[in-house]
Amino acid sequence: MQYFSTNRKSAHATFREATLLGQPDDMGLYFPEAIPQFDWTALIQKSREDLAFEVIRPYVGSEIDDESLHAICSETVNFDFPLKQITPNIFALELFHGPTFAFKDVGARFMSRCLRYFLKNREGKAIVVVATSGDTGGAVAAGFHNVEGIEVVILYPKGKVSRVQELQLTTLGGNVTAIEVEGVFDDCQALAKRALADDELKSQAFLTSANSINIARWLPQQFYYFYALQQWENGHRPVISVPSGNFGNICAGILAQVSGLPVKKFIAACNQNDAVTRFVRSGKFAPLHTVPTLSNAMDVGNPSNFVRILEIFNREYPLIKKRLASYSISDEETAETMRRIYDEYGYVLDPHGAVGVKALEEYQKKFPGDKGIVLETAHPVKFDSVKEILGTYGDVPEEVNALEARKKNAIQMGLDYDGLRDVILQKC
Ligand SMILES: *Cc1c(COP(=O)(O)O)cnc(C)c1O
Repeated sequence: MQYFSTNRKSAHATFREATLLGQPDDMGLYFPEAIPQFDWTALIQKSREDLAFEVIRPYVGSEIDDESLHAICSETVNFDFPLKQITPNIFALELFHGPTFAFKDVGARFMSRCLRYFLKNREGKAIVVVATSGDTGGAVAAGFHNVEGIEVVILYPKGKVSRVQELQLTTLGGNVTAIEVEGVFDDCQALAKRALADDELKSQAFLTSANSINIARWLPQQFYYFYALQQWENGHRPVISVPSGNFGNICAGILAQVSGLPVKKFIAACNQNDAVTRFVRSGKFAPLHTVPTLSNAMDVGNPSNFVRILEIFNREYPLIKKRLASYSISDEETAETMRRIYDEYGYVLDPHGAVGVKALEEYQKKFPGDKGIVLETAHPVKFDSVKEILGTYGDVPEEVNALEARKKNAIQMGLDYDGLRDVILQKC
């Protein structure tokens, strides 16, 4: 498989090249030249591991041998993806049973193992530098933890991540170094970008950002849409509501649908950062500044993967309007949905899942017969606001208690590029 740049100025790349580069130098995103077609009736029978292997294989081609690719897939999906009924018409696909309790584990685990495979015969160290507002850093850190030959440096904004997220970032140790930055997420991002562009550092080691736009993080997110359909026993094709921020997750779902997965429609569930909701309504893409919300992992004013949605639909707006619905949900509605679903059905939603449920309910007002699936993208315990709103996190995984017993270990840093540079140089 070859990948082209959505800006169409950079050369095409193989899966290996695109994984190692992350982003083409014309600043577009990599996109597959052809979308494979699957026979769903054959896939539905497969085990989780075999299904993942079949789905990803055409995208990887011969760049990873079959045996290694199968092993990478097995390790990537070695936890459950249960579909649970919440209301008579709404089901939740729980994507939080992985090591850091969020869907980002899938992409991060797959990508880290691909990088290990591609870098294994290379001289010298590889260093992953990543800025996080919460979920990404934990998933990437856990994905790369103990992966030989790779060091991970994570920058996170002091006081801006949740209690559990901070523990996940700062207690792994080993090849994972956490830096607590006196600043906001954008400061962390700016520091990371500077390091990734630093020629002296690049001459010392292979530097990458394990960015969410990397195809090796994006493409494996298709797997669990197939698992959802394997568990779907309600006749008629479901609509799927995806809590969306940077739009990688929903874009993977749409890719699966175009490949043959029987989904009726996708709903892009957004918080107040509604650039795509407004686009679906008007045909005009006019990103605005990011607004902070309760569902903070979706606080993205200008979603990077939007261009991939355009690409999937051949840049035809009428087609997008037909295939994609989108709703923007306020914080008040998010909290109201969390309370109501807990009171009526005893199900604890996290704020992101609640945005998904509310968007699906809005859609179902227009199409009452359509049953739907919401992706529950993270466990409620990852967000301190859940306890404030509901008084409980619901059932807390045992691993969280184990985390609380561990010691936080983070380097404190101001907005100090030289400090970051020294930390990275020590790892080279
Ligand atoms: C990252 C994240 C999202 C947004 O996913 P995108 O792929 O960026 O649209 C939604 N919910 C949670 C919990 C997340 O961590």
